Amino acid sequence: MSAFARKSLSTIRPISNFLNNPAFGSGRQFSTYNALLCHRKAAGQSDSMMEIGSRSTFNADHDILRTSARKFFNEEVLPDHSKWCIVGQVPKELWQKAGALGFLGTDTPEEHGGLGGDFKDAAIIMEEQSYVNCSGPGFALHSQIVMPYITHYGTKDQVDKFIPDMVAGNKIGAIAMTEPGAGSDLQGVQTNAKRDGDDWILNGSKTYITNGYMSDVVIVVAVTNPEAKSRAHGISLFLVEEGMKGFSKGKPLQKMGLKAQDTCELFFEDVRMPSSALLGKLNHGFYELMQELPQERLLIGIMSTANCEWMFETTREYVKQRKAFGKTLAHLQTVQHKLAEIKSQVCMMRAFTDQCIELHTIGKLDSAFASMNKYITSDIQNKIAADCVQLHGGAGYMSEYPICQAYLDARVQSIYGGANEIMKELIGRTCVA
Ligand SMILES: Cc1cc2nc3c(=O)[nH]c(=O)nc-3n(C[C@H](O)[C@H](O)[C@H](O)COP(=O)(O)OP(=O)(O)OC[C@H]3O[C@@H](n4cnc5c(N)ncnc54)[C@H](O)[C@@H]3O)c2cc1C
Repeated sequence: MSAFARKSLSTIRPISNFLNNPAFGSGRQFSTYNALLCHRKAAGQSDSMMEIGSRSTFNADHDILRTSARKFFNEEVLPDHSKWCIVGQVPKELWQKAGALGFLGTDTPEEHGGLGGDFKDAAIIMEEQSYVNCSGPGFALHSQIVMPYITHYGTKDQVDKFIPDMVAGNKIGAIAMTEPGAGSDLQGVQTNAKRDGDDWILNGSKTYITNGYMSDVVIVVAVTNPEAKSRAHGISLFLVEEGMKGFSKGKPLQKMGLKAQDTCELFFEDVRMPSSALLGKLNHGFYELMQELPQERLLIGIMSTANCEWMFETTREYVKQRKAFGKTLAHLQTVQHKLAEIKSQVCMMRAFTDQCIELHTIGKLDSAFASMNKYITSDIQNKIAADCVQLHGGAGYMSEYPICQAYLDARVQSIYGGANEIMKELIGRTCVA
């Protein structure tokens, strides 16, 4: 973990040495002391729900990473974010700065050219981005969706070719599943790749692709066996690179929110790809996608939850200083009740999301659980965003107030990454299995 300049575990080890001392006690007594010594306040018990040093999911080592990520997002992202919202993308240099500090592909194994952190490290980077309310940099999709496909299914050559540059922010990754005629129903994709000798010829188009405009490498979902008994048996993944002849990008799409995040259409017209562009096993693309989707869903839950913590804190500060009827809004009982409702909901989200982070860190998060987290957190995020705008009054409707942006950004969370109706389908099936 050299890139994080992490403190060694020496700060933690003396505690465990102490706990392992038989003179200290044993059994239940030992575990009570252990729990007390390792205790960290819950987010909702802390002065701020974003407080560094809170939440027992994390430890002192994580706090060091969080401190440097907080500094990065506050100093390098927040000041210019509104400018990037106008141009519809963030500068490439920002990616390289993030890469140099170890904030891209944080949990990619060292043997694959990554930094060797765990999923909790990755969660910290996503949370810290949500805590500045700046949705522009598509780091999470690049690091936690695109890179894992390459490390999990790529050949050594593919890993060596892309991962070190992606960790450094020199290459930006995207994933292209959705088409004008196929979103929720992924098996409806029409983009296809046909054999031509050893090569593949790719034709079709994709839409709503995050990081699409700035992408250097795109994982493209394409039909490779139209005769298969179902589409699920005839879909493969390909690594399409910027500069390949016949590959073109539309202009960044104009969106309701996520204004600084580039989202665009991609077009493939007789793109000739070498056989080495195939990612994973031929005709196994659908299964590979299914394997990776729980993590994609958890990312949304992590960012929804953290952004709700930010919205609560921002709104709390606002009502404490805004005066009406001779007192601050915070003096009104109805306002206090609304804050109480919001905080209680956020604490519930936090507990569930931290449980999912714990499970995913040890490889035990399943698809239904991840879907539940994505669905419920993004749904509540939208409700909390509406409540927080209401508590801001007219100011909440003004673009210059960050809560306005948060409200607009929240809307997509229940749509992408699998719409919430689809999440309920997946969860529902397991309820009656
Ligand atoms: C900002 C943004 C970024 C995105 N980034 C990416 C990206 O990087 N890569 C990518 O591949 N895609 C991306 N997407 C696409 C996104 O994943 C899809 O929009 C989403 O999966 C929904 O598909 P759709 O838009 O085709 O909606 P549709 O599938 O047409 O659905 C429309 C509505 O019908 C509902 N519905 C559909 N089927 C069912 C059903 N069986 N039961 C109940 N209700 C149903 C849906 O829930 C939804 O409410 C992005 C989208 C947005 C808006």
